[in-house]
Amino acid sequence: PVLDLSVGRLLRQAAGEAPQRTALIWIAPDHEPRTWTYAALLADAEHAAAWLLRRFRPGDHIAVWAPNTPEWLILQYGVALAGMVLVTTNPALRERELTYALCRSNSVAVAYAEEFRGTDMAGLLGQVLTDLPEITAIPFSTWLAEIRDTDVPTATFPEVAPESPTQIQFTSGTTGFPKAAILGHRAMITNADYVRARCDSPAGAVWISAMPLFHTAGCGMAGLGNLVQRGTLVLAQLFQPALVLAAIDTFEGDVLIGVPAMLKALLAHPDVATYDLSSLQVIVSGGDTVPAELVERCEDTFSASFSTVYGQTELSPIVTQTSPHDTERDNRHTAGKPLWNVEVAILAVPDGTVVPVGTEGEICARGYQTMIGYLDMPEETAATIDADGWLHTGDLGSMDERGYVTVTGRLKDLIIRGGENIYPREIEQVLLRHPDVGNAAVIGIPDEEWGESVAAIVQPEPTGTAPTARSLHDFVREQLAPHKTPKSWYVTGDLPTNAMGKLQKFRLRDAIIANELRKLDD
Ligand code: ATP
Repeated sequence: PVLDLSVGRLLRQAAGEAPQRTALIWIAPDHEPRTWTYAALLADAEHAAAWLLRRFRPGDHIAVWAPNTPEWLILQYGVALAGMVLVTTNPALRERELTYALCRSNSVAVAYAEEFRGTDMAGLLGQVLTDLPEITAIPFSTWLAEIRDTDVPTATFPEVAPESPTQIQFTSGTTGFPKAAILGHRAMITNADYVRARCDSPAGAVWISAMPLFHTAGCGMAGLGNLVQRGTLVLAQLFQPALVLAAIDTFEGDVLIGVPAMLKALLAHPDVATYDLSSLQVIVSGGDTVPAELVERCEDTFSASFSTVYGQTELSPIVTQTSPHDTERDNRHTAGKPLWNVEVAILAVPDGTVVPVGTEGEICARGYQTMIGYLDMPEETAATIDADGWLHTGDLGSMDERGYVTVTGRLKDLIIRGGENIYPREIEQVLLRHPDVGNAAVIGIPDEEWGESVAAIVQPEPTGTAPTARSLHDFVREQLAPHKTPKSWYVTGDLPTNAMGKLQKFRLRDAIIANELRKLDD
């Protein structure tokens, strides 16, 4: 069923049922773990709500600009109990981006960490707020002590409708244009419940997560999913392979959640074999292409089953997911079947008719989990959710006769060379099989003759020999048609990624146009 709950009511239910169970264990490098039971978490969240209601009104937007901390979660639940809306932002944002996020989201307050990864966040925020004096700063360092001194008149807390907004979430911007998606309580809670059920997470499970809380995967899939199953969330302040591996070992983690980039880093850790990871039952991963080889290596190394998720912020966020019981090997490269209560259709671009089974088109979804809209952007919202209620993901994919969805690329990534559609992912997959290529990105760049031409940017494999443009050209040419073979070749030590480890192709395109990338030798 769809869970007709608000986040506040969900927390109350969990605390009522399992007051003494450990709800949260926060871990960080050079810190002792900090632990909350369900009863303690609810008490702090109620203090937070009371504190917020003294200063702001239900419906107000409260921003958070901090790494993963217990205060972050307590604020999330307090904001929900107070009927306010949480605006999540990446702690890596700098002055100009933070100003944009606070203004675009109409935030009345911003909670922040004093310092993170060597950045004086308090100082930086001070500068931002000089121009925005109406926004209240809430320093997390003293906040818990302060809210615990507040009386809690829970009887005065507002009623919060399940369909009302709980969060405003910026899409992380692999396309370079952050939009503020508004997500509802029911949508996020139900989605987290379905993901948990599809991956067969046991009741009361211990989940290990280093996913950033400012993403739906962190605060929704992991955070709300934990409340739904009355489990224990082991929350890492940041992703460090040794921290995560030690957490699985120490806390006997049942479920690990991480984007593919994190899993690759865990597998590459030199001491991975020294940890006891035998408690692990399931690994949940997505947010980016999950290569079949990665699934297999994870299953072998961690002796755990695997569940791939596919979705996006605008869909609260997960749409399709593989089940760990699904043992057919040829399902591994797919993103699984649609979760419950969501319709998924592959629609032709641009005419919007349903394509035949196995044919590529745009992945579209319709159901309880669709975002309420983009904040103050009616045109963008209408361009994304069509008149029939289909949310257009901008992702390309196909569905087989059994209902398994395969993600094949992104509409925005599509290269159109002389009218011919070229899908970068196909070329990237070929390049990744070359022994001297560690990572690769293929993009379209302006071309006088063809409109666009194919450019490849490779990151050499550290242990391989330096690849040449000629050798890579011949390698691709052997496997793909001439028009798909990249015309220009570039090399970089580091492909630009966002906080989730996802490639930011728009930055590569800008760098090539500005002549800032080194050409690969012939
Ligand atoms: P923007 O929407 O601005 O491009 P973004 O890519 O960071 O930013 P998110 O909502 O964080 O937005 O990510 C969703 C996207 O990630 C999906 O639309 C899809 O392209 C990709 N993605 C998610 N899961 C998978 C998966 N299992 N396989 C392939 N791609 C995936």
